Amino acid sequence: MSQESDHKPSNFIRQMIDEDLKVNKNDGRVATRFPPEPNGYLHIGHAKSIVLNFGIAEDYHGTCNLRFDDTNPHKENIEYVEAIQDDVKWLGFDWDGRLYYASDYFEQLYGFAVELMQAGKAYVCDLNAEEIRTYRGTLKEPGKDSPYRNRSVEENLDLFKRMRAGEFEDGAKVVRARIDMASPNINLRDPTLYRIRHGVIHHQTGEAWCIYPMYDYTHPISDALEGITHSICTLEFEDHRPLYDWILDNITIACHPQQIEFSRLNLQYTVMSKRKLTELVNEGHVEGWNDPRMPTIAGLRRRGFTPASIREFCERIGVTKSDNLVEMGVLEDCIRTDLNIRAPRRMAVLHPLKVVITDYPEGRVEPLEIANHPQDETMGSRQIPFCREIYIDRADFEEVPPNNKFKRLIAGGEVRLRGAYVIRCDEVIKDQSGEIIELHCSHDAATLGANPEGRKVKGVIHWVSAPHALEAEIRLYDRLFSHPTPDATKDGTNYTDHLNPDSLRTLSRCFVEASLSEAEPGVTYQFEREGYFCLDSVLGGGERPIFNRTVTLRDTWEKN
Ligand code: ATP
Ligand code: MG
Repeated sequence: MSQESDHKPSNFIRQMIDEDLKVNKNDGRVATRFPPEPNGYLHIGHAKSIVLNFGIAEDYHGTCNLRFDDTNPHKENIEYVEAIQDDVKWLGFDWDGRLYYASDYFEQLYGFAVELMQAGKAYVCDLNAEEIRTYRGTLKEPGKDSPYRNRSVEENLDLFKRMRAGEFEDGAKVVRARIDMASPNINLRDPTLYRIRHGVIHHQTGEAWCIYPMYDYTHPISDALEGITHSICTLEFEDHRPLYDWILDNITIACHPQQIEFSRLNLQYTVMSKRKLTELVNEGHVEGWNDPRMPTIAGLRRRGFTPASIREFCERIGVTKSDNLVEMGVLEDCIRTDLNIRAPRRMAVLHPLKVVITDYPEGRVEPLEIANHPQDETMGSRQIPFCREIYIDRADFEEVPPNNKFKRLIAGGEVRLRGAYVIRCDEVIKDQSGEIIELHCSHDAATLGANPEGRKVKGVIHWVSAPHALEAEIRLYDRLFSHPTPDATKDGTNYTDHLNPDSLRTLSRCFVEASLSEAEPGVTYQFEREGYFCLDSVLGGGERPIFNRTVTLRDTWEKN
């Protein structure tokens, strides 16, 4: 039976799996997992891992578990556990009821540690954290054996039991694997397997435990207990692989998954470490984890990104073992491509300038039928009222054209209103300071929807009916940082020094077409000639709706 995947562009991990299947390793089974620590929201880097793990499971008719790696209770909480599940589902993946917690295995993990002790392969150590560090040695020098390394099996078992019973304070004792203090791989120099943590209430196990297993010990065993075949993780765990294998080789467990490492996603103009993202939230640099400027899945969703665009991004960047820094333009291109196809068109005026059509009868309202998408008839059409007073965008008018490329409205010139008439600007009304406050125009009744024979009006601008339009607030988001690698500058600056002061600009008096009173959060629209926008899912609709700009129509960042 061949299950070789031919759906997705291949990568070195898929090639390894193909090889395994050829020799019927794991009886031809493919089982992966996505193992987030619930100490923050998921970000676009996690999406890369999700698409990889769940994608492999889908294509090879295998399974992918969602497993919370919850061994560090003081940083974790249930809000994160729930948000992570929401985000994985929203991205379009399903763990089919295989939702696990590393904490489900605490009892078994304890039992395996006892087994290691009985075999003389683990011991209770009384050195404190600082001493353990000193004894560990360096890359150049071997470490030194702990004075507690040769405790008897009985003493170790007794102390471990008493650690579990809560007899010792935090830091007083740890359990360590007994491997090799002279190993060239520092991870094998008697790594810590258990530490004591009193006074924390674990979101799953409550106060049942006061000793907690370390990640490097927990992970291989959790994988093996779940029958994972390919344990895919990021490159920083490459040097931990010998420890992963050592643990499984030294306990009685049938399954031995293969750990495979790939390089993590780094994205320009943002940070991806959960510690830093937590700081951005806690220090109030952003509104929260779901701030539309955050690289989190929740932020991107609120910003108007689609799951398909994020999955496409993850496919496009590929999976390798080499360090990479992906341009923000790649992500933006994915969302533009997706929205260009699926986003309904609407008209919205961001910087309103009132236009009075002086030769259009007062009180008359003409419903004009406008297509929701220029290329996709299945998206239907809607009616937009036309009347004597409208708004156009301030940027679409110049008294004197700045150059001969200016195709919009100028004093004495003509322009077409999208889906409506050609108008001519007859008079420019200014206030005392010389600011333009209104235009008086006339319309050509013969031009509704099309140009009569021989008539050439090149410019087309968008507009909304002044009495019908809905007043809205529009939030223009830009990159959160103004430096492409804010946390990797070599000049001693901190990443927060590079926060972009213009990452959010709020336009408080915009006018959007009335049909947008029915806008739904989760649907992103193209505001013609302006970009892609969606109703804010948190502050949302109401009398004066708030719209978020998802992305501009073109990449304008470098030119700003
Ligand atoms: P941080 O170091 O910022 O806390 P993490 O890697 O510890 O992040 P986890 O919750 O442990 O976060 O990650 C869950 C899974 O997602 C892991 O398998 C991890 O390798 C993967 N992952 C995390 N960040 C990235 C990234 N930037 N690119 C690809 N995969 C990632
Ligand atoms: Mg981690």
